[in-house]
Amino acid sequence: MSGPAGVERSGKVVIRNIGLLLSGDIDRPILEADTLVVQDGVITQVGRAADCDTSEPHRLIDARGTALAPGLIDSHTHPVFGDWTPRQNQIGWIESCLNGGVTTMISAGEVHLPGRPKDIVGVKALAITAQRAFEGMRLAGGGGGVRVLAGAPVIEQGMVEQDFADMAAAGVRLLGEIGLGSVKAGDEARQMVNWARKHGMQSTIHTGGPSIAGSGMIDELVVLEADADVIGHVNGGHTSLSYRAVCTLCEKSSRALEIVHNGNERIAILTARHAMELKCPHRVILGTDSPAGSGVQPLGMLRMIALISSMAEIPAEIVFGFATGNTARMRDLPQGLIEVGRPADFVFMDRAQHSAGRDLLDSVQLGDIPGVGMVMIDGLVRCQRSRNTPPAVEVPVIVS
Ligand SMILES: [Zn+2]
Repeated sequence: MSGPAGVERSGKVVIRNIGLLLSGDIDRPILEADTLVVQDGVITQVGRAADCDTSEPHRLIDARGTALAPGLIDSHTHPVFGDWTPRQNQIGWIESCLNGGVTTMISAGEVHLPGRPKDIVGVKALAITAQRAFEGMRLAGGGGGVRVLAGAPVIEQGMVEQDFADMAAAGVRLLGEIGLGSVKAGDEARQMVNWARKHGMQSTIHTGGPSIAGSGMIDELVVLEADADVIGHVNGGHTSLSYRAVCTLCEKSSRALEIVHNGNERIAILTARHAMELKCPHRVILGTDSPAGSGVQPLGMLRMIALISSMAEIPAEIVFGFATGNTARMRDLPQGLIEVGRPADFVFMDRAQHSAGRDLLDSVQLGDIPGVGMVMIDGLVRCQRSRNTPPAVEVPVIVS
Protein backbone atom coordinates (compact mmCIF):
# COMPACT_ATOMS: atom_id res chain seq x y z
CA MET A 1 0.00 0.00 0.00
CA SER A 2 1.17 3.50 -0.76
CA GLY A 3 0.24 6.75 0.91
CA PRO A 4 1.19 10.36 0.37
CA ALA A 5 4.70 10.98 -0.93
CA GLY A 6 5.14 7.29 -1.67
CA VAL A 7 5.38 6.35 2.02
CA GLU A 8 4.33 2.73 2.55
CA ARG A 9 1.24 2.33 4.72
CA SER A 10 0.27 -0.80 6.59
CA GLY A 11 -3.44 -0.92 5.77
CA LYS A 12 -5.35 -3.14 8.20
CA VAL A 13 -3.15 -5.41 10.28
CA VAL A 14 -4.48 -8.07 12.65
CA ILE A 15 -2.20 -9.69 15.24
CA ARG A 16 -3.73 -12.71 16.97
CA ASN A 17 -2.65 -15.24 19.61
CA ILE A 18 -0.55 -12.82 21.63
CA GLY A 19 0.55 -14.80 24.69
CA LEU A 20 1.53 -11.83 26.86
CA LEU A 21 0.72 -8.21 26.05
CA LEU A 22 3.00 -5.71 27.79
CA SER A 23 1.46 -2.23 27.77
CA GLY A 24 4.53 -0.09 28.46
CA ASP A 25 2.57 1.54 31.31
CA ILE A 26 4.18 0.66 34.65
CA ASP A 27 0.91 1.26 36.50
CA ARG A 28 -0.81 -1.44 34.44
CA PRO A 29 2.02 -3.34 32.76
CA ILE A 30 0.11 -6.42 31.54
CA LEU A 31 -3.05 -6.16 29.46
CA GLU A 32 -5.80 -8.78 29.46
CA ALA A 33 -5.81 -9.06 25.68
CA ASP A 34 -4.58 -11.37 22.94
CA THR A 35 -5.42 -9.41 19.80
CA LEU A 36 -4.34 -6.12 18.25
CA VAL A 37 -5.81 -4.41 15.22
CA VAL A 38 -3.91 -1.69 13.38
CA GLN A 39 -5.05 0.64 10.61
CA ASP A 40 -2.42 2.49 8.58
CA GLY A 41 0.18 2.34 11.31
CA VAL A 42 -2.07 3.26 14.25
CA ILE A 43 -3.51 0.92 16.91
CA THR A 44 -7.30 0.82 16.54
CA GLN A 45 -8.30 -2.12 18.78
CA VAL A 46 -6.78 -3.94 21.76
CA GLY A 47 -8.71 -6.83 23.27
CA ARG A 48 -9.83 -10.42 23.17
CA ALA A 49 -10.21 -11.89 19.69
CA ALA A 50 -13.99 -12.25 20.03
CA ASP A 51 -14.31 -8.54 20.83
CA CYS A 52 -12.20 -7.26 17.91
CA ASP A 53 -13.06 -6.78 14.24
CA THR A 54 -10.48 -9.07 12.67
CA SER A 55 -12.18 -9.37 9.29
CA GLU A 56 -10.34 -8.92 5.98
CA PRO A 57 -6.92 -7.82 7.13
CA HIS A 58 -4.34 -6.66 4.62
CA ARG A 59 -1.77 -8.41 6.85
CA LEU A 60 -2.49 -11.20 9.38
CA ILE A 61 0.12 -12.14 11.94
CA ASP A 62 -0.11 -15.13 14.27
CA ALA A 63 1.94 -14.28 17.35
CA ARG A 64 1.95 -18.00 18.28
CA GLY A 65 1.73 -17.23 21.99
CA THR A 66 4.76 -14.94 22.08
CA ALA A 67 4.94 -11.71 24.08
CA LEU A 68 4.34 -8.35 22.45
CA ALA A 69 5.63 -5.07 23.88
CA PRO A 70 5.87 -1.53 22.54
CA GLY A 71 9.04 -1.12 20.48
CA LEU A 72 11.93 -0.10 22.71
CA ILE A 73 12.91 3.58 22.86
CA ASP A 74 16.63 4.26 23.24
CA SER A 75 16.61 7.58 25.05
CA HIS A 76 20.29 8.37 24.45
CA THR A 77 22.07 7.87 21.13
CA HIS A 78 24.66 9.75 19.12
CA PRO A 79 23.77 9.35 15.44
CA VAL A 80 25.59 11.39 12.79
CA PHE A 81 24.25 10.89 9.28
CA GLY A 82 22.66 7.86 7.68
CA ASP A 83 23.06 4.37 9.11
CA TRP A 84 26.74 4.98 9.80
CA THR A 85 28.75 6.09 12.79
CA PRO A 86 32.22 7.59 12.50
CA ARG A 87 32.80 6.93 16.23
CA GLN A 88 33.62 3.29 15.48
CA ASN A 89 33.42 3.56 11.68
CA GLN A 90 30.50 1.17 11.63
CA ILE A 91 27.86 0.86 8.94
CA GLY A 92 24.37 -0.48 9.62
CA TRP A 93 24.34 0.08 13.38
CA ILE A 94 20.78 1.47 13.48
CA GLU A 95 19.34 -1.50 11.58
CA SER A 96 21.34 -3.77 13.87
CA CYS A 97 19.65 -2.18 16.91
CA LEU A 98 16.27 -2.78 15.25
CA ASN A 99 17.17 -6.45 15.56
CA GLY A 100 17.53 -5.76 19.29
CA GLY A 101 13.94 -4.52 19.52
CA VAL A 102 14.62 -0.78 19.19
CA THR A 103 12.07 1.17 17.15
CA THR A 104 12.90 4.73 18.29
CA MET A 105 16.24 6.39 18.99
CA ILE A 106 16.58 9.84 20.50
CA SER A 107 19.66 11.84 19.66
CA ALA A 108 21.58 13.41 22.52
CA GLY A 109 23.59 15.35 19.95
CA GLU A 110 25.25 14.62 16.63
CA VAL A 111 28.55 15.18 18.39
CA HIS A 112 30.63 12.67 16.46
CA LEU A 113 30.33 14.48 13.14
CA PRO A 114 33.90 15.02 11.94
CA GLY A 115 34.57 18.76 11.98
CA ARG A 116 31.31 19.47 13.83
CA PRO A 117 30.61 23.23 13.64
CA LYS A 118 30.79 25.15 16.90
CA ASP A 119 29.88 28.62 15.63
CA ILE A 120 26.25 29.46 16.31
CA VAL A 121 24.99 29.57 12.73
CA GLY A 122 26.76 26.27 12.09
CA VAL A 123 25.25 24.68 15.21
CA LYS A 124 21.77 25.70 14.08
CA ALA A 125 22.32 24.58 10.50
CA LEU A 126 23.57 21.17 11.62
CA ALA A 127 20.58 20.67 13.93
CA ILE A 128 18.09 21.47 11.19
CA THR A 129 19.94 19.33 8.64
CA ALA A 130 20.18 16.33 10.99
CA GLN A 131 16.48 16.55 11.88
CA ARG A 132 15.52 16.65 8.21
CA ALA A 133 17.99 13.98 7.10
CA PHE A 134 16.93 11.37 9.66
CA GLU A 135 13.24 11.98 9.09
CA GLY A 136 13.80 11.66 5.36
CA MET A 137 15.83 8.50 5.82
CA ARG A 138 13.10 6.91 7.94
CA LEU A 139 10.36 7.70 5.44
CA ALA A 140 12.50 6.02 2.79
CA GLY A 141 12.87 2.94 5.01
CA GLY A 142 16.57 3.49 5.74
CA GLY A 143 18.07 2.23 8.99
CA GLY A 144 15.42 -0.48 9.08
CA GLY A 145 12.75 2.23 9.36
CA VAL A 146 13.78 3.05 12.96
CA ARG A 147 12.51 6.45 14.10
CA VAL A 148 15.67 8.45 14.75
CA LEU A 149 14.67 11.68 16.46
CA ALA A 150 17.74 13.73 15.66
CA GLY A 151 18.76 17.32 15.25
CA ALA A 152 19.91 17.90 18.82
CA PRO A 153 22.18 20.95 18.91
CA VAL A 154 24.98 21.13 21.45
CA ILE A 155 24.52 24.58 22.91
CA GLU A 156 27.40 27.03 22.85
CA GLN A 157 28.11 30.28 24.66
CA GLY A 158 26.69 33.33 22.94
CA MET A 159 23.39 31.77 21.87
CA VAL A 160 20.38 34.03 22.43
CA GLU A 161 16.66 33.32 22.70
CA GLN A 162 16.12 34.05 19.02
CA ASP A 163 18.42 31.15 18.14
CA PHE A 164 16.12 28.74 20.00
CA ALA A 165 13.05 30.33 18.41
CA ASP A 166 14.62 29.92 14.96
CA MET A 167 15.45 26.25 15.52
CA ALA A 168 12.04 25.48 17.00
CA ALA A 169 10.32 27.15 14.05
CA ALA A 170 12.39 24.93 11.75
CA GLY A 171 11.27 21.73 13.49
CA VAL A 172 14.10 21.14 15.98
CA ARG A 173 12.62 19.62 19.15
CA LEU A 174 15.64 18.57 21.22
CA LEU A 175 18.83 19.92 22.70
CA GLY A 176 21.93 17.77 22.66
CA GLU A 177 23.65 16.97 25.92
CA ILE A 178 24.42 20.18 27.74
CA GLY A 179 28.05 20.18 28.77
CA LEU A 180 29.49 18.80 25.56
CA GLY A 181 29.81 22.36 24.21
CA SER A 182 31.12 25.54 25.78
CA VAL A 183 28.11 25.98 28.12
CA LYS A 184 29.13 24.24 31.33
CA ALA A 185 28.03 26.61 34.11
CA GLY A 186 24.69 25.97 35.81
CA ASP A 187 23.27 29.49 35.52
CA GLU A 188 24.20 29.80 31.85
CA ALA A 189 22.72 26.38 31.09
CA ARG A 190 19.54 27.17 32.97
CA GLN A 191 18.86 30.27 30.91
CA MET A 192 19.21 28.31 27.67
CA VAL A 193 17.13 25.40 29.02
CA ASN A 194 14.38 27.90 29.80
CA TRP A 195 14.55 29.41 26.31
CA ALA A 196 14.41 25.93 24.81
CA ARG A 197 11.46 24.95 26.99
CA LYS A 198 9.60 28.15 26.14
CA HIS A 199 9.90 27.27 22.45
CA GLY A 200 8.88 23.62 22.87
CA MET A 201 12.32 22.03 22.82
CA GLN A 202 13.38 19.31 25.29
CA SER A 203 16.75 19.37 27.00
CA THR A 204 19.19 16.79 28.34
CA ILE A 205 22.30 17.34 30.42
CA HIS A 206 25.48 15.27 30.55
CA THR A 207 26.00 13.97 34.10
CA GLY A 208 29.32 12.86 35.59
CA GLY A 209 32.89 12.75 34.44
CA PRO A 210 34.15 13.44 30.92
CA SER A 211 33.22 10.79 28.32
CA ILE A 212 36.40 11.12 26.31
CA ALA A 213 39.50 13.26 26.51
CA GLY A 214 38.46 16.84 25.85
CA SER A 215 34.90 16.65 27.18
CA GLY A 216 33.90 18.01 30.57
CA MET A 217 32.77 17.10 34.10
CA ILE A 218 29.24 18.03 35.18
CA ASP A 219 28.47 17.58 38.88
CA GLU A 220 25.15 17.33 40.67
CA LEU A 221 25.07 21.02 41.57
CA VAL A 222 25.27 22.02 37.90
CA VAL A 223 22.65 19.40 36.96
CA LEU A 224 20.25 20.74 39.60
CA GLU A 225 20.81 24.37 38.64
CA ALA A 226 20.45 23.74 34.88
CA ASP A 227 17.18 21.83 35.51
CA ALA A 228 17.12 20.16 32.08
CA ASP A 229 14.17 17.88 31.28
CA VAL A 230 16.33 14.76 31.30
CA ILE A 231 19.19 14.02 33.70
CA GLY A 232 21.23 12.37 30.96
CA HIS A 233 23.10 9.19 31.89
CA VAL A 234 22.60 9.67 35.61
CA ASN A 235 24.91 6.63 36.02
CA GLY A 236 27.72 8.35 34.12
CA GLY A 237 28.80 8.06 30.56
CA HIS A 238 31.02 6.27 31.66
CA THR A 239 32.30 7.88 34.84
CA SER A 240 29.59 8.27 37.43
CA LEU A 241 29.12 10.76 40.21
CA SER A 242 29.21 9.18 43.66
CA TYR A 243 26.14 7.24 44.75
CA ARG A 244 25.49 9.96 47.32
CA ALA A 245 25.45 12.59 44.55
CA VAL A 246 23.11 10.46 42.42
CA CYS A 247 20.77 10.10 45.43
CA THR A 248 20.77 13.90 45.70
CA LEU A 249 19.64 14.10 42.04
CA CYS A 250 16.91 11.54 42.66
CA GLU A 251 15.67 13.39 45.71
CA LYS A 252 16.04 17.07 44.79
CA SER A 253 14.96 17.00 41.16
CA SER A 254 11.76 15.72 39.57
CA ARG A 255 13.25 15.36 36.09
CA ALA A 256 13.76 12.12 34.17
CA LEU A 257 16.45 9.77 35.50
CA GLU A 258 18.10 8.32 32.42
CA ILE A 259 20.12 5.15 32.99
CA VAL A 260 22.41 4.04 30.15
CA HIS A 261 24.26 0.94 29.05
CA ASN A 262 27.53 2.77 28.46
CA GLY A 263 27.63 3.94 32.06
CA ASN A 264 28.51 2.64 35.50
CA GLU A 265 26.54 -0.59 35.98
CA ARG A 266 26.65 -0.54 39.78
CA ILE A 267 25.13 2.94 39.85
CA ALA A 268 22.58 1.87 37.22
CA ILE A 269 21.30 -0.82 39.57
CA LEU A 270 21.42 1.39 42.65
CA THR A 271 19.61 4.25 40.88
CA ALA A 272 16.78 1.99 39.73
CA ARG A 273 16.41 0.63 43.26
CA HIS A 274 16.52 4.09 44.79
CA ALA A 275 13.81 5.33 42.40
CA MET A 276 11.59 2.41 43.44
CA GLU A 277 12.20 3.17 47.12
CA LEU A 278 11.46 6.86 46.59
CA LYS A 279 8.25 5.85 44.81
CA CYS A 280 9.24 7.70 41.64
CA PRO A 281 9.67 4.80 39.19
CA HIS A 282 7.91 6.84 36.47
CA ARG A 283 11.05 8.95 36.15
CA VAL A 284 13.31 6.07 35.15
CA ILE A 285 14.06 5.88 31.42
CA LEU A 286 16.68 3.80 29.62
CA GLY A 287 19.21 4.36 26.86
CA THR A 288 22.49 3.08 25.56
CA ASP A 289 24.60 6.26 25.05
CA SER A 290 25.92 4.60 21.92
CA PRO A 291 27.77 4.83 19.59
CA ALA A 292 30.55 5.67 22.00
CA GLY A 293 34.02 4.65 23.00
CA SER A 294 32.54 1.33 24.10
CA GLY A 295 31.12 0.84 20.63
CA VAL A 296 27.61 0.11 19.49
CA GLN A 297 25.46 -2.38 21.39
CA PRO A 298 22.63 -3.67 19.19
CA LEU A 299 21.25 -5.50 22.22
CA GLY A 300 22.06 -2.71 24.65
CA MET A 301 18.44 -1.92 25.53
CA LEU A 302 17.61 -5.58 26.15
CA ARG A 303 20.78 -5.93 28.21
CA MET A 304 19.75 -2.94 30.35
CA ILE A 305 16.32 -4.44 30.91
CA ALA A 306 17.79 -7.80 31.96
CA LEU A 307 20.44 -6.14 34.14
CA ILE A 308 18.02 -3.90 36.02
CA SER A 309 15.32 -6.53 36.38
CA SER A 310 17.69 -9.22 37.64
CA MET A 311 20.10 -7.16 39.76
CA ALA A 312 17.78 -4.43 41.09
CA GLU A 313 15.07 -7.09 41.49
CA ILE A 314 12.34 -5.15 39.71
CA PRO A 315 9.62 -7.14 37.88
CA ALA A 316 10.51 -7.44 34.18
CA GLU A 317 7.17 -6.05 33.02
CA ILE A 318 7.94 -2.84 34.96
CA VAL A 319 11.43 -2.56 33.50
CA PHE A 320 10.04 -2.94 29.96
CA GLY A 321 7.94 0.10 30.90
CA PHE A 322 11.13 2.02 31.78
CA ALA A 323 12.25 1.45 28.18
CA THR A 324 8.93 2.33 26.55
CA GLY A 325 5.99 4.06 28.24
CA ASN A 326 8.07 5.99 30.78
CA THR A 327 10.18 7.47 27.98
CA ALA A 328 7.05 8.25 25.99
CA ARG A 329 5.58 10.19 28.90
CA MET A 330 8.74 11.93 30.10
CA ARG A 331 9.52 12.95 26.52
CA ASP A 332 5.99 13.51 25.26
CA LEU A 333 6.16 10.98 22.43
CA PRO A 334 3.13 9.24 20.90
CA GLN A 335 4.85 5.84 20.66
CA GLY A 336 5.87 3.57 23.55
CA LEU A 337 2.44 2.50 24.83
CA ILE A 338 -0.08 -0.09 23.68
CA GLU A 339 -3.24 1.99 23.48
CA VAL A 340 -5.77 2.84 20.81
CA GLY A 341 -4.49 5.81 18.81
CA ARG A 342 -0.80 5.11 19.42
CA PRO A 343 1.67 4.22 16.64
CA ALA A 344 1.92 0.49 15.90
CA ASP A 345 5.56 0.02 16.89
CA PHE A 346 5.94 -3.46 18.39
CA VAL A 347 8.57 -5.97 19.43
CA PHE A 348 7.63 -9.66 19.67
CA MET A 349 9.70 -11.70 22.12
CA ASP A 350 9.92 -15.09 23.73
CA ARG A 351 12.33 -16.57 26.23
CA ALA A 352 15.64 -17.50 24.66
CA GLN A 353 16.09 -21.16 23.85
CA HIS A 354 17.49 -23.06 26.88
CA SER A 355 17.00 -20.15 29.28
CA ALA A 356 16.51 -21.36 32.84
CA GLY A 357 13.45 -19.11 32.99
CA ARG A 358 10.06 -20.74 32.51
CA ASP A 359 8.67 -17.87 30.41
CA LEU A 360 9.72 -14.50 29.02
CA LEU A 361 9.34 -12.47 32.22
CA ASP A 362 10.95 -15.16 34.40
CA SER A 363 13.91 -15.45 32.01
CA VAL A 364 14.53 -11.68 32.09
CA GLN A 365 14.28 -11.65 35.89
CA LEU A 366 16.95 -14.35 35.90
CA GLY A 367 19.18 -12.05 33.86
CA ASP A 368 18.77 -13.59 30.39
CA ILE A 369 18.01 -11.39 27.43
CA PRO A 370 14.98 -12.49 25.43
CA GLY A 371 14.87 -13.67 21.85
CA VAL A 372 13.27 -11.22 19.42
CA GLY A 373 10.96 -12.85 16.89
CA MET A 374 9.65 -9.84 14.97
CA VAL A 375 9.74 -6.04 15.02
CA MET A 376 7.08 -3.77 13.52
CA ILE A 377 7.18 -0.01 13.00
CA ASP A 378 4.09 1.88 11.81
CA GLY A 379 2.40 -1.50 11.49
CA LEU A 380 4.98 -2.71 8.96
CA VAL A 381 7.11 -5.79 9.60
CA ARG A 382 10.68 -4.48 9.73
CA CYS A 383 12.44 -7.67 10.82
CA GLN A 384 11.51 -11.23 11.68
CA ARG A 385 13.62 -13.62 13.79
CA SER A 386 16.42 -11.39 15.05
CA ARG A 387 19.88 -11.96 13.66
CA ASN A 388 21.35 -10.59 16.90
CA THR A 389 19.48 -12.00 19.89
CA PRO A 390 19.72 -15.59 21.05
CA PRO A 391 17.00 -17.56 19.26
CA ALA A 392 13.54 -17.26 20.75
CA VAL A 393 11.71 -20.50 21.60
CA GLU A 394 8.72 -19.41 19.51
CA VAL A 395 8.40 -16.69 16.86
CA PRO A 396 5.37 -15.09 15.19
CA VAL A 397 4.47 -15.98 11.63
CA ILE A 398 3.05 -13.91 8.81
CA VAL A 399 -0.10 -15.82 7.83
CA SER A 400 -1.03 -13.56 4.94
ZN1 LIG B 1 27.32 12.44 27.90
